Amino acid sequence: MEDSLQHIKNWKNKRRAQKKPIKKFLQLVSKRKNKQLDNKAADLHQKAFSKIDCLDCANCCTSIPPIVSRSDVKRLCKATGMKEAEFTRQYLRQDEDDDWVMNTTPCPFLQEDNKCSVYEDRPKACRKYPHTDADEFRNNLGLHAGNAYYCPAVFFILEEMMKAAGHK
Ligand code: SF4
Ligand code: SF4
Repeated sequence: MEDSLQHIKNWKNKRRAQKKPIKKFLQLVSKRKNKQLDNKAADLHQKAFSKIDCLDCANCCTSIPPIVSRSDVKRLCKATGMKEAEFTRQYLRQDEDDDWVMNTTPCPFLQEDNKCSVYEDRPKACRKYPHTDADEFRNNLGLHAGNAYYCPAVFFILEEMMKAAGHK
């Protein structure tokens, strides 16, 4: 993807300054959220990921420990050949909400080339991130405000929405 690195650079340069405007914009959006918003987000989601290559980024895997459910653990244990207790001891911790999450950032399964060594069996939270596809967008507006700081694709989607709505 030709301009993937450029989009990531743009996000890094602007994400701090855009924190407040994005939050304000999403507060306005929350008052009139509807199916149309999900459809618009779904289009922009496709556009964002046609421009931004996750392998150029990996910021979610580097900075946000994903929730790992019991069914994720079972699947990952099958893939790695580990026992559940051993896997839990080696890779997981409980966070402040008592959810089990990966115990390090960057994630222990992130490789040097930004690929995930358990990609086919990765946790559901990793599959769903950044929650910008249809049916999820309008239910996660607060999450998107925070994720714009961590994910260049979310930032791109929200910037495009703001431009279309006449916000800078
Ligand atoms: S932060 Fe967003 S763009 Fe970066 S790797 Fe994760 S999902 Fe992809
Ligand atoms: S399991 Fe894979 S996709 Fe999930 S955070 Fe770790 S490296 Fe990223």
